[in-house]
Amino acid sequence: MPSKNLVQGEKGLLCPKCSHLNPGNLKQCEYCNSQLFVKCKKCGAKMQRVISKCPECRHRMHKSPFGKLKRRMFRRSKKVTIGQVAILVIVAYGAFKVITIAAGKL
Ligand SMILES: [Zn+2]
Ligand SMILES: [Zn+2]
Repeated sequence: MPSKNLVQGEKGLLCPKCSHLNPGNLKQCEYCNSQLFVKCKKCGAKMQRVISKCPECRHRMHKSPFGKLKRRMFRRSKKVTIGQVAILVIVAYGAFKVITIAAGKL
C-alpha cells in the first residue's frame, strides 16, 4: 500500500525551495523540480538540502538556501536583539528611577 508510506513528516522530504513535502524516495521536488539532495564538497556524503551542515564532516553547506535564510535571519535578529536589550535596559532603569523618585516625594 503506497498510501501507508506517505505519512507526513515521517518519510517525506521537505523541499528547500517551496517547502513541499515529497514522499520518501524522490530525488527532486515533485512540485518545483528542485534538487532535494546535495553532495558534500569535502567528503562527498549525500544529504538532504535542508540540512545546513554535513553530518559526516561538519562541513558547512553554504549553497543551501535554507541555511542562507536562517543565517540572514539570525544575524539580523541578533543585531536587533542587542540594540533592543540596550534600549530596554536604559528605559527600564529610567522608569525605575522616575518611579522611585516619585514614590519618595509622595
Ligand atoms: Zn519544491
Ligand atoms: Zn562532508
